[in-house]
Amino acid sequence: MRGRNLRGELDAFLAEREAELIGFRRDLHMNPELAFAEYRTTQRVAERLGAAGLVPTVLPRGTGLICEIGSGEGPTVALRADIDALPVPDEKDVPYSSTVPGVCHACGHDVHTAILLGAGLFLAQQARAGLLPGKVRLLFQPAEELPGGALEVLAAGGLSGVDRIFGLHCDPKVDVGKVGLKAGPITSACDRVNIRVSGPGGHTARPHLTVDLVFALAKILTELPAALSRRVDPRSSLSLVWGRVEAGSVANAIPDDGLAEGTLRCLDEEAWHAAPDMIKSLLESVAGAYGVEVDLDYVRGVPPVVNEEDSVQMLSEAAESMLGEGASVPTQQSLGGEDFGWYLESVPGAFARLGTRTPGTAHAGDIHQGTFDVDESCIGAGVRFLVGTALTALWEERQPTVEEPLVVVNSDT
Ligand SMILES: [Zn+2]
Ligand SMILES: [Zn+2]
Repeated sequence: MRGRNLRGELDAFLAEREAELIGFRRDLHMNPELAFAEYRTTQRVAERLGAAGLVPTVLPRGTGLICEIGSGEGPTVALRADIDALPVPDEKDVPYSSTVPGVCHACGHDVHTAILLGAGLFLAQQARAGLLPGKVRLLFQPAEELPGGALEVLAAGGLSGVDRIFGLHCDPKVDVGKVGLKAGPITSACDRVNIRVSGPGGHTARPHLTVDLVFALAKILTELPAALSRRVDPRSSLSLVWGRVEAGSVANAIPDDGLAEGTLRCLDEEAWHAAPDMIKSLLESVAGAYGVEVDLDYVRGVPPVVNEEDSVQMLSEAAESMLGEGASVPTQQSLGGEDFGWYLESVPGAFARLGTRTPGTAHAGDIHQGTFDVDESCIGAGVRFLVGTALTALWEERQPTVEEPLVVVNSDT
């Protein structure tokens, strides 16, 4: 990369530090902490960064931290890891099993944390040697699973001055040493839609004197998703699916209230932004026809992660140069959510799927299961990949200013 033997430098760094980073991951794995309760994890990361001469800032709630590497001129690239565990019991029989009943790093965030720590330690070394062409901001984000930790980081100014952001997630469907990449949307949005309907109840013999609430609710249940599907681009795959309906208590009385609860899933960012207003106006028009009062509680989940194309190219270059030819493989958009999408609403960037499967393994356990584990050589691979990505992005952000004089040569002045 830029003529330097970065691979060799990373080899030397990992020869010295890889065992420590694996130990760091195992310590977090044995001591998992749930969303917004990651006090020990935050402390451990802060101590290690501090020992390397860095000055991290803990977020206002006391969990999660931000750490800037490098100073002076140049662009800023942010690298993000999430640090929280899940309320899932650990079912693995390994020496580093969770010691906290019912809590486990079943989504691999312990691995993400160890990788970002390793990348930070290496980049700090580069900065001290005057080799960092800008600044790198490490974001150790709490509460991805809640979700909402990304909003804490944003509220704390975590992205101010950042030109580009990158993140990664363990993927047990991809072999270790490879990374899954995709431009455009890579995860999906999922929001909650809660509707309460009300009106004067009465005897079922006289529906005309009431609003016939159960009939009106049934109309909303069928007409709202149908109308919605006619108002958005079908390619956005926006869908409203009900999960819970409740109204009435006896066959011959029309109730005076009822409710419907469902989820709205969406693969497309534009449609996701438009969804709440659209649901509101469609609901009002359907309900209006039957005279019922409606109350909509629309609960935002996370936006889809929409990878920016240039940033994906940088991830791809980093994978090929740091992990070897053919290390970047295509991946598909998942229907799962990931709060990294909040960052990409503010700055360009991209999210990668880091291979964690031991090659040749037929069936690697999936994330969010108590049996999930990784091939720990993914930690070294992740460090190489993130370091390569940060440096590629910093160099490419700088490039326009380096090339500008060539354009100015022909100007009138
Ligand atoms: Zn998860
Ligand atoms: Zn996760």
